[in-house]
Amino acid sequence: MGRPVPTGTAPLRGQATGFSSMPALEAASLAVVINLVRSGRATTRPELVTATGLSRKAITQRVDQALSLGLLEDGELAPSSGGRQARTLHFRAEAGYIYSALVGASEFTAAVMDLTGTIIASHHEDWAVDTGPEPTMRQIRSAFTVLARKTGLGRPWAIGIGVPGPVEFAAGHLVAPPIMPGWDGFSVRSWLREHYDAPVWVDNDVNLMALGEWTSGTPHDGRDMLFVKVGTGIGAGLVTRGRLLRGDRGAAGDIGHTHVTDDPSAVCRCGLTGCLEAVAGGWSMLEEGTRRVEESPCLSKALRRTGRLTLGEIGAAAVDGDRLALEMIDKRSRLVAEVIANFVNFCNPGVLVLGGGVLRTGPRFVDVVSSTVHARCNRLVTAGLTVRAASLDHLEGVVGAGLLAVSGLFATTPLSHWVESGSPLGHATTLQRLSVEDA
Ligand SMILES: [Zn+2]
Repeated sequence: MGRPVPTGTAPLRGQATGFSSMPALEAASLAVVINLVRSGRATTRPELVTATGLSRKAITQRVDQALSLGLLEDGELAPSSGGRQARTLHFRAEAGYIYSALVGASEFTAAVMDLTGTIIASHHEDWAVDTGPEPTMRQIRSAFTVLARKTGLGRPWAIGIGVPGPVEFAAGHLVAPPIMPGWDGFSVRSWLREHYDAPVWVDNDVNLMALGEWTSGTPHDGRDMLFVKVGTGIGAGLVTRGRLLRGDRGAAGDIGHTHVTDDPSAVCRCGLTGCLEAVAGGWSMLEEGTRRVEESPCLSKALRRTGRLTLGEIGAAAVDGDRLALEMIDKRSRLVAEVIANFVNFCNPGVLVLGGGVLRTGPRFVDVVSSTVHARCNRLVTAGLTVRAASLDHLEGVVGAGLLAVSGLFATTPLSHWVESGSPLGHATTLQRLSVEDA
């Protein structure tokens, strides 16, 4: 004891490390050193001394520990600033692996990624989430098994998963998801914990899209980001000062159920009437397209072929100039744009990113939203605002799910717990408990 507490160290719980051989403060300062290098905030030993306030000797010890644990590695010499050149340090992204999955209304993507959220292998599959939780989770599990075999990598360090409904974040379970019949109260975390000895983090799909795009999307400028997904459902995720806004329970950003009309026929899947989704969501477009299919030779053909229209088919029809498809998309784009403009006015993001299946209908949607936002919002709000499409080819959600799991493992308290082992394997139960306490 008696060492200075490093900057940024979270208060330690009683037996934070769980090890008798490494004192809690030493484990915590090791965690801080690893995270400073991992985030790029310090890349040499002298920078670590400055960033932590620890002595050179203490930093040398911590870095040696991190090197021998395989979490950091020495890199090239840093450019000289006059004195002796310092050797740079790198975080070893390949020290461990994460499983991640993003479940949509009609598809899911599963991936294996390294500790920086870089995808090593992924698997995409058409899958109706209304099939129910048990078959869906089994399908995702078999995708993980295929990916593990393909990559030859060992056990995952953690699992991150996104689902298209409201998630009570601390508990990892769904609460009254409008487009996921049979999932109410289902704990994605418990199911995965029964099958994997790894901690599991679960969040709403749009939150994870926002996180993935904010961290790994291009261009990256670190400004506050409002991400709006328009697909089967409509939702938003807000990253402000680098943190996701989840609200009190995890329901922040659920803009699809904003009341926009008193029309009693606009019945929403959430049980209310007049929601944005009921008049502008992808599922409402599928209903309208099916009802009016006789007006479009192109969509009639698609419906005859498969017996069920998809948003991809309506998007393709629009790109080909189909009148009904264009009318339905334009009407919805204007409605969604009006609501987005209100939220842009409210939270003043630096970047507004649009994502989801609507992007497959061509560039019109982004144009409509951009012009509406510029027409409706305060000049201070639009002055530096960038409006753009998501940049990760529909993978931002699965990337965000992996990043959520990484941040769960590397938050100071959980990292302090497992760091001396060099790996969180075998610590899943405690890490899960710590994450629930932290949530
Ligand atoms: Zn609703």
